[in-house]
Amino acid sequence: MAKLHIDTAPVWEAFRQDSECPLCLLHAKVEAANVDYFLGESVMEPDQRIEVNQKGFCGRHFKQMYEIGNRLGLALMTHTHMKETMRSLREDAQKLRDAAAAEASKPAISRWVGGRKNGGIQEIADTLSSLDARCVLCERVRESMRRYVYTLLYLYKREPEFAELLAHSKGMCLKHFGETLKMAPEHLSGSALKQFVDRLTEVELANFDRLEGEIDWFTRKFDYRNDDKPWGNSRDAVKRSINKLRTHVIDE
Ligand SMILES: [Zn+2]
Ligand SMILES: [Zn+2]
Repeated sequence: MAKLHIDTAPVWEAFRQDSECPLCLLHAKVEAANVDYFLGESVMEPDQRIEVNQKGFCGRHFKQMYEIGNRLGLALMTHTHMKETMRSLREDAQKLRDAAAAEASKPAISRWVGGRKNGGIQEIADTLSSLDARCVLCERVRESMRRYVYTLLYLYKREPEFAELLAHSKGMCLKHFGETLKMAPEHLSGSALKQFVDRLTEVELANFDRLEGEIDWFTRKFDYRNDDKPWGNSRDAVKRSINKLRTHVIDE
């Protein structure tokens, strides 16, 4: 990854904002830019179309594109993805027929021994139920996020001002905390790695404490005895807590 062009500005900007997770802010931006791209330019690009035809999008991203309302671009992609899906569905249908026939001709005892694992049928069923995991847009977003985490580690190593900013931030959501920890040993080592992990973990714990206090106060505000007391930072504590626990579920 060392040869990548490093665009540090978006990472600085995200960490300078007041948020529960700067990486979630970046994620939202990258996701929105990709939704625009897939509804716009990509429709006209043959390479992209081939990939979209094969993989399609996950439910979350289909929904985001649907809600934007560029119905022609989305219709064109959905149509050709559907045709591609039908092509493999026809192949699967033949395999299913064969597997079902083989299953039917087995003696009862081997059906018992084999349990519910009926080879061909199971395999096709697994593929169908995991279609949501294949998404061109998720792949693009993941790639950009890897670059941003790399940039974060790069800045931490080289810019003391950034290390300070991180130390005084509100930490990250759990998933991005995990992703940052996962990449840290690739780019930091020895005492620098130890210091980074210690610092980030400290920030994370301190901010979970803070947020736990805020959501606690939210629940106490339902007690009539607290009617007249101020909300403090608790009004949107439920939303921020959910986003902290589960990454960017509810829009800021
Ligand atoms: Zn996050
Ligand atoms: Zn997706």
